[in-house]
Amino acid sequence: MTDFPQPVAGTVVPRFGDVATFMRLPLFRDPAEVEIGIVGVPWDGGTTNRPGARHGPRQMRDLSTMMRRVHHVTRVAPYELARCGDLGDAPVNPASLDDSLERIGKFFTKIHAAGTVPLSAGGDHLITLPIMRGIAPKAGEGGQAPLGMVHFDAHSDTWDTYFGGYKYTHGTPFRRAVEEGLLDPKRTVQIGIRGSLYKRDDNDWAVEQGMRVITIEEYFDLGVDKVIAESRRVVGTGPTYVSFDVDGLDPAYAPGTGTPEIGGYTPHEAQRLLRGLRGLDLVGGDVVEVSPPFDMSGNTALVGVTMMWEILCLLAEAVARRKGRL
Ligand code: MN
Ligand code: MN
Repeated sequence: MTDFPQPVAGTVVPRFGDVATFMRLPLFRDPAEVEIGIVGVPWDGGTTNRPGARHGPRQMRDLSTMMRRVHHVTRVAPYELARCGDLGDAPVNPASLDDSLERIGKFFTKIHAAGTVPLSAGGDHLITLPIMRGIAPKAGEGGQAPLGMVHFDAHSDTWDTYFGGYKYTHGTPFRRAVEEGLLDPKRTVQIGIRGSLYKRDDNDWAVEQGMRVITIEEYFDLGVDKVIAESRRVVGTGPTYVSFDVDGLDPAYAPGTGTPEIGGYTPHEAQRLLRGLRGLDLVGGDVVEVSPPFDMSGNTALVGVTMMWEILCLLAEAVARRKGRL
């Protein structure tokens, strides 16, 4: 434990000083040096409306200097449980969607091959598709079931095509992930779905595949504790990914995002929902759709990176459990 990488404390170097890395951790370029790698994916080529999420990782690194070492409720200290570090950014090609999916996928395949668990900062939500291509258990890995997912979002992101049959946008990643056998729809729960539809049956595909879609109306009817219980029931004990789109939050708290929808949950509610996922077999996570140009105050990035901190504490416990440290 004593040789695990540690963040720079704000009591030693002021928060605004020195080079900004995620959570003020050391930067590593070799994923084998860490057990949890925090990665930026500065790419928003899948965006269908307001762009800017390519600038998310840099601002989130900056605002992550607010994070300290011990979770104030659970008392989890992630840097005592697992080797954590900033792995820099995934390579991207801002001029090519196809090439970016290729590059991002290869980067996460390398991370997965090193036995490292990724926690990523987007980027738009299409980045989760190449991340899943990199980390989802393959048929050759003992025939394990594909990933389950706890998905926070205003949108189901299971639309089929845009702009005349085009299959890859930030509105389609989870339909592609199911089609590609990466994501088990029956072990997928979506929390906070809302917003007007293109067609009456827009969200039917997800339900037909077996996804548990908790609309924002049902969320407010059930309350946090029952939504946690339902989410845990859906994903069960198998390997599970956490994907957090900041537009699941009410845009009053996270206005800097590409596709805002009013009437979402508060950051505090989201924190409680995430804490409710302790003990699951979590194998990765992301926070996506933070678009700094639409919130120059940095508040959306602060909210986003605080959700990353919550997920990091969950991942550290999951890694420590798998390593027999807990
Ligand atoms: Mn999304
Ligand atoms: Mn969304």
